[in-house]
Amino acid sequence: MPAQKIDGQELSKAIRAEVAAGVAAHVAAGGRPPGLAAVLVGDNPASEVYVRSKRKACEDAGMNSWLHRLPATASEEDLLKLVADLNADPAVHGILVQLPLPKQIREEAIINAISPAKDVDAFHPQNVGLLAAGHPRYLPCTPFGVQQMLARSGIPTIGKNVVVIGRSNIVGKPMALILMQKPTKDFPEAGDATVTVVHRGTKDLPAVCRTADILIAAVGVAKFVTADFVKPGAAVIDVGINSVDGKLVGDVDAESVSPVAGWLSPVPKGVGPMTITMLLQNTLKSAVAAK
Ligand code: NAD
Repeated sequence: MPAQKIDGQELSKAIRAEVAAGVAAHVAAGGRPPGLAAVLVGDNPASEVYVRSKRKACEDAGMNSWLHRLPATASEEDLLKLVADLNADPAVHGILVQLPLPKQIREEAIINAISPAKDVDAFHPQNVGLLAAGHPRYLPCTPFGVQQMLARSGIPTIGKNVVVIGRSNIVGKPMALILMQKPTKDFPEAGDATVTVVHRGTKDLPAVCRTADILIAAVGVAKFVTADFVKPGAAVIDVGINSVDGKLVGDVDAESVSPVAGWLSPVPKGVGPMTITMLLQNTLKSAVAAK
């Protein structure tokens, strides 16, 4: 029997409707409409697509959204000045600087300059620290999306073995931090799971992956995960977005894995739409906190 599909598109629709209701209630109570400012430096076509879909999702949810463009030749000072202006603007509740940035701009300097309260991507070291300490302000959007896919599909994490492939700051590391911690009133999303993170330095990676009740692939290598990585019945979440001959391909070889797995998220229409949805949720949270 093929694995049951975890449909990120459908789950996103449901969560976006909840966010839109939250925005309407916040505005009805006299709050400022939540606002997200996106910053695009240069003209990377993939970044253009991401920013466009993020802005549309904001508008559909009743939020304000602005796009600030800087040329590919912009200096770090130019971008720092723009970030300072957005930090000071009370209509802006979330600031999203689309990565990657041109070589002359240090990403770390920009991330560190964003006000932590408006850092709805949760990349600022203060927000990373709060998550690690078990009191997150915001959960980073992609791992937050994965957590919601599991929770809303009725896939329990408590006491389960989770293997995360990849240790990046954006996906793998925060994914592990969310799923391994103890749930509390401040952090109900925490997974209470036993989490293993595997990466380029891991010996016999498929054998470790086969211990997983939940396998999360964030590798950046098309069709990396095949049936021999998967314990029968496991839930497999594919975070990967790779372009192969102009087609979007995940990190999981779905054809090989689907007959073995119990659950599988597709690419496209899996984690991708959930990432944008959780960005909206974080922006609403920021607006509510700002009043
Ligand atoms: P990254 O390149 O920063 O990290 C990849 C990780 O995978 C590294 O930790 C590396 O050690 C590990 N890795 C790479 N090749 C490996 C190998 N051969 N064996 C074992 N480990 C290996 O990537 P990232 O930013 O974490 O993104 C991972 C994937 O997820 C990419 O395809 C990216 O496009 C995608 N992504 C998707 C979303 C989304 O919204 N769906 C968001 C962010 C990233």
